Amino acid sequence: MGMKIYNSLSRRLEDFEPLTPEQVTIYSCGPTVYDYIHIGNARTALVTDIIRRYLVYKGYNVKLVQNLTDIDDKIIKRAGELDISTEQLAHQNGEAFFEDSQRLGIQPADVHPKATEHIREMIDLIQILIDKGAAYVIDGSVYYRVNAFASYGKLSNRKPEDLLAGARVEIDERKEDPRDFDMWKAAKPGEPSWDSPWGKGRPGWHIECSAMAMKHLGETIDIHAGGEDLRFPHHENEIAQSELATGVPFARYWMHVAFLKIDGQRMGKSEKNFILLRDALDHYPTEVIRHFLISAHYRHPLDYNQESLTKSEGALRRLSNCLDALKQYDTEVGLNERTDSPLQHAVEKMKTQFTQAMDTDFNTAQALGTIFTLVGEVNKVLSSRHEVENSVFAEAYQALSETCQVLGIYNTEAQNSNGNIEAKLEPLVELLLEFRQDARNRKDWETSDKIRDRLIELNIEIKDTREGTTWKIVS
Ligand code: AMP
Ligand code: ZN
Repeated sequence: MGMKIYNSLSRRLEDFEPLTPEQVTIYSCGPTVYDYIHIGNARTALVTDIIRRYLVYKGYNVKLVQNLTDIDDKIIKRAGELDISTEQLAHQNGEAFFEDSQRLGIQPADVHPKATEHIREMIDLIQILIDKGAAYVIDGSVYYRVNAFASYGKLSNRKPEDLLAGARVEIDERKEDPRDFDMWKAAKPGEPSWDSPWGKGRPGWHIECSAMAMKHLGETIDIHAGGEDLRFPHHENEIAQSELATGVPFARYWMHVAFLKIDGQRMGKSEKNFILLRDALDHYPTEVIRHFLISAHYRHPLDYNQESLTKSEGALRRLSNCLDALKQYDTEVGLNERTDSPLQHAVEKMKTQFTQAMDTDFNTAQALGTIFTLVGEVNKVLSSRHEVENSVFAEAYQALSETCQVLGIYNTEAQNSNGNIEAKLEPLVELLLEFRQDARNRKDWETSDKIRDRLIELNIEIKDTREGTTWKIVS
């Protein structure tokens, strides 16, 4: 069976056929870097990570591009509040985004383009649209003429009157049509701006993604992903701009991730009900959070609550106990004659069902179900002490570890990353630093130096600063 993906554009499950056989290009709308990311943002980023991991597992050559929106109203506002430059704010939060993603075991994209580094490409694209009569200039701003694109609304499936209601565009009497949106915003005093044929200004959000996606992945990309809030107007506008400019389809498959909710409400910055990913990672291991975030199919909403995370913790414990018990047999794969044991059948069944689940629009909830069914079978055999060839345990280990690695819930890179270890070591190191401070207060330099030197031997470097003593793991 081949893979099927639910395409938000056609609103049905479609056979997956990339433009070029064996190659897949993916563009995922990344964060606006004015703050740390919350676990709602993390859900969308994690789904993209799993799509990519699974396609690689299936043998595709994947190129993933995920942008960083590093200039927009929110960034300008926050930088003003903090009295720092927009560059500094975007840089800090961009770095924090990479750090948080790594802690969640998300593999970096092949390219992470930044909007401010692609102004030239955006201006070129806007110029093409002006030349084609699909855009107009008013007082240094450039607007997209929605009327010029006959299939406007095809992604969000909205009627013109709904499009108006949903557009939430700024009321601007100068526009020809309220649905028209700005691709270039004329500079306002004190705001960052770039030179353009229409005067100083900055790009609009939608043109950023059109220009960056086409620059790094070509005119037609295979998969375009993002959270469901982006379907309209963001993705609708990306389609309008890109397809009118090139005359070819912009993305073959549109994938939208349903919201992570909290108390029945969408988790969001503006709702002020969010939990930062880094705070969640300080309390739960990477694999537990990953398990929780993929425990529902990506098109279904998922509720964040304590009970679900506790369940994920329990599930992960069962899984790692089982893998620990099986690991010792790993080298015995294929050593013995194949037996015809029920466990061997269970292993084969799990491999088939895992692939079926993931082939059907990346159904991670079902895929996890197949993994835990096999864990149950293995535990039964282990506890009943039935004679089972070691090679069958080895096969079970291989099947489980391979599928868990696709989902990133076993042996992820982040499991060994300093972030997780640091969180676990913190109370212990803080205690030692307290003893060291006591020694220093007593002018017992020998003990104080000994603690510092012994920590260095353990690859923990400490630094005395005016604000106190800090520490970090060095490798
Ligand atoms: P933003 O930084 O708000 O532009 O969001 C970055 C990405 O996270 C986008 O793809 C959003 O659609 C997605 N996102 C935001 N909130 C949620 C949520 N509660 N659940 C799932 N995805 C979300
Ligand atoms: Zn985008």
